[in-house]
Amino acid sequence: MNLDALYPWFFAIAAIIWLIITWQQNPPERRIKREAPSTPEPPPFLPNDIAVEMLDIGVMYVSADGVVLHHNPALRTVLRIDGGVDGQTIMSLVRDHQLDEFVRDTATKRVNDEMQLHQRNPSRTMRVVARPMVLPNEDVVVMVLIRDVTQINQLERARRDMIVSISHELRTPLAALKILSDTIVSQPPPEVAQRMAMRISDEVDALTRLVEDLHDLSQIEAGRIALQYAQYDTVALIQQAIERSTPQANAHHITLQATYPDTLPAVMVDRGRMAQVFLNLLHNAVKFTPDHGAIRVDARVVHLPSDGAALTNLPADHPPGEWMLLSIADNGVGIPLEHQHRIFERFYKVDQARTRGSGTGLGLAIVRHLVEGHGGRVWLSSTVGNGTTFYFTIPTAQSNE
Ligand code: ADP
Repeated sequence: MNLDALYPWFFAIAAIIWLIITWQQNPPERRIKREAPSTPEPPPFLPNDIAVEMLDIGVMYVSADGVVLHHNPALRTVLRIDGGVDGQTIMSLVRDHQLDEFVRDTATKRVNDEMQLHQRNPSRTMRVVARPMVLPNEDVVVMVLIRDVTQINQLERARRDMIVSISHELRTPLAALKILSDTIVSQPPPEVAQRMAMRISDEVDALTRLVEDLHDLSQIEAGRIALQYAQYDTVALIQQAIERSTPQANAHHITLQATYPDTLPAVMVDRGRMAQVFLNLLHNAVKFTPDHGAIRVDARVVHLPSDGAALTNLPADHPPGEWMLLSIADNGVGIPLEHQHRIFERFYKVDQARTRGSGTGLGLAIVRHLVEGHGGRVWLSSTVGNGTTFYFTIPTAQSNE
């Protein structure tokens, strides 16, 4: 037998045996793992995960070395990114060392974690939650959820401020009520008891006003008050407001007069709510004007062009069209310039000492809501010592036709 002829067979059988041994030691999955790239692929379910795609919270899957593997559409909105995201590092996308370290740490420690991400220009706060996911191949991918909480934080701050203001406003009259009632309990002479009882009645009135204003404002702010529009004679509206404030003005010898052209178009307003606007502004005018002062109510029609060219003195964002411009001018104490931009905030008071009688600090906030609810605007001009003029606009009947 020629051995040379057997050599090819010998090599072929050896190769087959080697292949079988290698195959058994190295099944396909393990070989695939060895060949897999160092950056793990996103888990296969991610691109089809409709819930993640539709979330309005930004979601991204990041490799342990900080490379974004996959993201949902909301992420671009939350992080305000225009260009590509997948394949980019966190540092190149967000330029924030803290976030980069935070994600890497989560991958290393393999525990859920969360942080606040603060950005400047514009100032924003984001809540970031990271959760590590161990893939079947033992690689770690971090699922990062990012939510812009700037507005939620602002609302929370406003809510806290509101509680502080309300408790402060309640504390003062309650302390007075305690002292007054304790005095009465100690059986003072009848005339003192009578005085104390009258002051108790005043304090209770003030508290009732505060609670009513608070309730009103919360209803208006929550949009629970629907304005009932109807056509009203402007002059009648002004005259009624003046009549209602006359007793208060007379008590301090303050003259109250109105000036308007012979013909004025009717307005389209919620009459009850408009009366409340007039009353709050006139009440303040009387309160902040010394005895023998003067208050004037003026009315005229203005036509605002739609090209944004506003009349002098009107707010730049005033809607165009025909409007009734009303003003209530007093010659009282005035409002210092530095306080004027905050005057319509809830509970904002310039200085308790300047006022005759107490106030809730809610009147102007209510006025602004009601005027803006009618589509108009309210603003002021004031000089310390010379007086204050509040202006507001309301729709005329024609502007709604
Ligand atoms: P208040 O119940 O304290 O009057 P408002 O919201 O009506 O609350 O007014 C807020 C603050 O604005 C007042 O406390 C006062 O400091 C100031 N203010 C309002 N109207 C006038 C005015 N006509 N003249 C001077 N200051 C005013």
